Amino acid sequence: MKERLQKLIAAAGLASRRQAERWISAGRVTVNGRIAAIGDQADVERDRIEVDGRPLRLEQPKVYLLLNKPNGYVTTARDPQGRKVVADLLKDVKVRVFPVGRLDLNTEGLLLLTNDGDLAARLTHPRHQVAKTYLVRVRGTLTASSRRRLEEGVMLDDGPTAPAKIAKVRSSGSHTWFEMTISEGRNRQVRRMCEAVGHSVSRLKRVGLAFLVLEGLPVGVYRPLTNGEVKRLK
Ligand code: URA
Repeated sequence: MKERLQKLIAAAGLASRRQAERWISAGRVTVNGRIAAIGDQADVERDRIEVDGRPLRLEQPKVYLLLNKPNGYVTTARDPQGRKVVADLLKDVKVRVFPVGRLDLNTEGLLLLTNDGDLAARLTHPRHQVAKTYLVRVRGTLTASSRRRLEEGVMLDDGPTAPAKIAKVRSSGSHTWFEMTISEGRNRQVRRMCEAVGHSVSRLKRVGLAFLVLEGLPVGVYRPLTNGEVKRLK
């Protein structure tokens, strides 16, 4: 049966469908030796599909990992500047997994990694509005009006944000800790939202994603999701 190439590449666990489309546009995918175009379909049983010259293999076991990312690690697979990468913490994982969304170099906490491209695409698609909860430390005292602005949504240079949920505010004079839950996943969104209301973020840790929490997982350590957790995410 013929299927769209991006679907097959995602099913093989190489990338999300969107990423696979980018690879197709960039001419990195061939079918029976010919460079594929967006919209092309192929049959994995009959056609020879290659990505960067390597044959596509289906049926890899699906792997779902929850990592407590330390500060100072980049979320990409490799870093041209030679900084530490999260893959360094996953040395005994035999299959290639990729992160579901990104955390900044200096953001710690919950990072989900998988080779299930379809699930990754679903969790990061804006339509599904998956809740992400952060423990935030900002400089100064978070005023009632700043809090309200975050809760109403703020204007960023890439457009207005949806309202954030703010909870557990604790101020110590020089800084304020609070929990912030957002459903979008824009680049540096928490930092930019806080800056927009006059507070720079001095510490940022993701503590929740959908129903998943970090709880009990030491920094730099990962654990596989249980079957029940995977089912609930799908
Ligand atoms: N928001 C940010 O500003 N940084 C992250 O790493 C995640 C969310």
